Amino acid sequence: MTEKKLPFTKEALEKIIEKYPTPFHIYDEKGIRTYAKRFVKAFSWNKGFKEYYAIKAAPNPYLMKILRNEGFGIDCSSIAELELAEKIGMRGDEIMFTSNDTPAYEYKKAIELGAIINLDDIAHIQYLDENVGLPELVCFRYNPGSLKEGNAIIGHPEEAKYGFTRSQLFEGYQMLIDKGVKRFGIHTMVASNELDPNYFGGTAQILFELIADLSKKLNINFEFANLGGGIGIPYKPDQVEVDLEKMSQSIKDCYDKYITGNGLKPIKIYFESGRAITGPFGCLVSKVLHIKNTYKKYAGLDASMANLMRPALYGSYHHISVPGKEDSATKIMYDVTGSLCENNDKFAINRVLPKLAPGDIVVIHDTGAHGHSMGFNYNGKLRSAELLLRENGEVVQIRRAETLEDYFATLDFNGVAGFEV
Ligand SMILES: *Cc1c(COP(=O)(O)O)cnc(C)c1O
Repeated sequence: MTEKKLPFTKEALEKIIEKYPTPFHIYDEKGIRTYAKRFVKAFSWNKGFKEYYAIKAAPNPYLMKILRNEGFGIDCSSIAELELAEKIGMRGDEIMFTSNDTPAYEYKKAIELGAIINLDDIAHIQYLDENVGLPELVCFRYNPGSLKEGNAIIGHPEEAKYGFTRSQLFEGYQMLIDKGVKRFGIHTMVASNELDPNYFGGTAQILFELIADLSKKLNINFEFANLGGGIGIPYKPDQVEVDLEKMSQSIKDCYDKYITGNGLKPIKIYFESGRAITGPFGCLVSKVLHIKNTYKKYAGLDASMANLMRPALYGSYHHISVPGKEDSATKIMYDVTGSLCENNDKFAINRVLPKLAPGDIVVIHDTGAHGHSMGFNYNGKLRSAELLLRENGEVVQIRRAETLEDYFATLDFNGVAGFEV
């Protein structure tokens, strides 16, 4: 059982809302730093260990700087994400470029920055070679197909669009050798939001056995094994967070057996986790706008799925707290909704909550990953601000809310004047 705690009191939150109107996402620096330190420490047995924060989870330069300060690199998969990394001064092997269906200009940018290139498909070897040129170090993404059970968000590996098959890896690394590439890495990511620490040991076993086979057959050394992201978080109060120390131990057991045990050179272990790093340390703060009683009871918020799309997209559970009413005896079942003209604009369906009234503050938990970043502008909804609760209790705005001017910025109203219809 995880108690769903918030890093502020109701009074502190009211003060924040006086300055920054709802809705907004707010991140907890202390929570992020504490978890980051624990992650790095759990893998201290592996020399060169690095976690590359999957920046799509919460692409904000303040968060990136905090994580870089904790020794993290960054995992990018688009030109915008590469430029974000560049803007805060990240370079070289601080950046992992794990993309798919990639255009040449993105590879070009990644190579200019000296990023580690993680190829998603065998056809991209030639594509990269012809369009940009191959770098000295290349990594491939492995898709183990039916060897590995997937889970709901990422699907079954054999149905997933990502990665090379096993035989393509043997062929692909040989192609790299023939083209003069000297340094090699390997990657896999087969789960998303996985809570079983042993699952990662299983993934490591598949990857380390494969490294042993590839190393022997092709007579090459691997510099790193990137175990991807996918570390889950306890969205529900009855779920338990992944025991990082246990996860690390099960990976170490496989490492000792298949890497050290096969006489291979030491390999650096990398992760590219996003969700676990910031997910639990962010929340969406909103207010009740209307209570509606028809065939069901609805609590309409001033936020919508434009601020948090996961419940509508995957049916995800996000815990909801009502600060100040936690101990209220009267509980009522609501659908907690936003204002989009889409009936799936619901943060929760049939959720039992304290009795709500307009003006109540509602906190939606665990939005620090794939929350603000999945936002969109349908119905002209504007993306909210992002705030950061510093370790000293100070609150800073790390992204302003969008304005209607932002929304209209790509439209041309001047031309319309002379436009005949
Ligand atoms: C999304 C993603 C990650 C991070 O996954 P989490 O589930 O957030 O840890 C890592 N690598 C790649 C390639 C991804 O697409």
